Amino acid sequence: MSCLRLSKSVYESMRAHGEETYPHECCGALLGTSTPDGWQVEQAVRAGNTRTDSAHNRYNIAPVELVKIEREARRQGLGIAGFYHSHPDHPAQWSPTDFAEAHWIGCSYVITAVAHGKATVTNSFLLAGASEEDKHFEQETIRVEDEPIETILG
Ligand SMILES: [Zn+2]
Repeated sequence: MSCLRLSKSVYESMRAHGEETYPHECCGALLGTSTPDGWQVEQAVRAGNTRTDSAHNRYNIAPVELVKIEREARRQGLGIAGFYHSHPDHPAQWSPTDFAEAHWIGCSYVITAVAHGKATVTNSFLLAGASEEDKHFEQETIRVEDEPIETILG
């Protein structure tokens, strides 16, 4: 089973984003580095939801915004680790639309359920497979790591 590792601040910022956009979905990208057992996420990048027609159950990052995010990731020596979005008043499980619109094989798709404006469960699904025809979601473990704390020695 693969594992998505992120810092507490990245985890919290992603969940807070879902609370801020409630009752609409939020979306964003995750930047990080690849490890043999999954992504180590360094940064969550907020994106505007371009699906104004049905923003409560659809999300989309504009291609031009994605290009900018990719460029910024490369500049920092990072890759696109995955994408996150929220499910207002729906479980943190991928929908048929989420699956149809997921094309980044090897990336993690993180979903946070937001119930009555409060972030509840967050799940991550790795888009596995060899090709678009063969792709499938595999649930993965999320490991939230504490930030290194600077200690002052007196
Ligand atoms: Zn969804």
